[in-house]
Amino acid sequence: MASHPRVWSFIPTFVTLQFEVPPALAYKQHVSNDASEPIINAGTRYCAVLGHPVAHSASPAMQNAGLAALGLNWRYLAFDVHPDHLRPAIEGAKRMGFIGLNLTVPHKLLALDMVDVVDDHAKIWKAVNTIVFETRASSGPWIPVGVTETTVGQKVRSRGFNTDADALVQALKEAFKLENLQGVSVLLLGAGGAARAAALRLAREGVGKLHLVNRTKTRANELVADLTRDCPGVVAIQGYPSARVDLVINATSLGLKGEDPLPIDLQWLQAHRPPFVYDMIYRPMETGLLRAARKAGCQIANGAGMLLYQGTRALELWTGRPAPVGVMRAALEKNLYG
Ligand code: NDP
Repeated sequence: MASHPRVWSFIPTFVTLQFEVPPALAYKQHVSNDASEPIINAGTRYCAVLGHPVAHSASPAMQNAGLAALGLNWRYLAFDVHPDHLRPAIEGAKRMGFIGLNLTVPHKLLALDMVDVVDDHAKIWKAVNTIVFETRASSGPWIPVGVTETTVGQKVRSRGFNTDADALVQALKEAFKLENLQGVSVLLLGAGGAARAAALRLAREGVGKLHLVNRTKTRANELVADLTRDCPGVVAIQGYPSARVDLVINATSLGLKGEDPLPIDLQWLQAHRPPFVYDMIYRPMETGLLRAARKAGCQIANGAGMLLYQGTRALELWTGRPAPVGVMRAALEKNLYG
């Protein structure tokens, strides 16, 4: 017989039952193998990422490192939530006193209609990736529940934010040592949720020209129309530029799998050799696009910086305190790249 831990259950008659407990279900006092971490107790508070799927997410490693560094008795969990169940999941987290949530694929757009209040930026970028649960005492201002002791019996509302777009700008500046992006010309690959947020945010940052290339041209055209209407300072054009641009950004999902074709016309890349190429994808560490760009002599960076800064900004919204960026970066890199 295997040496599994045993749980004995005594029924107050004459029968004694013995259950085998598989090792995976054996009681563990600690949530990790690091015994130096404080244990979960009745005072522990929770944040979480909801996605479908979510098993690949690096956010728990990054955020739990940040929470521990801040000395908070909070934990960051991950839940695989089917899109059909997103609304009750958000509502349940609100009712159970969660501090906040992150949302990942495919929930960012859906959540726009599921939170009580949408922050202005999330409205503009048309995506919610961070929810802050807020409370108010009587007629006072709404404040994050994370800065209060308890919300039991108080009003709580969910407020949707988008930290992805600001994170991209911060990551670009850091990766390529750019003080600002004013006047920079950009070739943006993709017209999905991430590309849309990037385009609108880059336009606000003062980029000069934005060239948009997408498999489905109508989506790129729609984005060009929105940019032209809402951001008169930027010149938005559908299709490849005939001249060199300063920066190429991949916001398509091409590159996630090793066998994916390049998201860019290789001949264009080799002919124009843009100084900076950024791929929003962070796993694998070097995508086919980044490899080709590096070989063409471009400076390259992957999406890990964007992932880091969307997370640090979310943590700051929940806690009202500066995020421990160095600790979170180290935990993220360890989780992503070992
Ligand atoms: P969406 O599903 O909204 O958009 C996907 C984009 O990829 C669309 O432009 C789509 O084109 C294009 N695409 C998908 N498959 C193909 C294909 N076979 N050939 C050509 N184009 C294709 O996803 P998101 O915008 O949310 O995410 C895009 C990428 O950005 C993902 O790789 C995601 O991991 C990454 N990302 C990274 C973040 C970070 O923190 N680093 C944050 C957010 C996203 P079409 O319109 O024709 O369908």
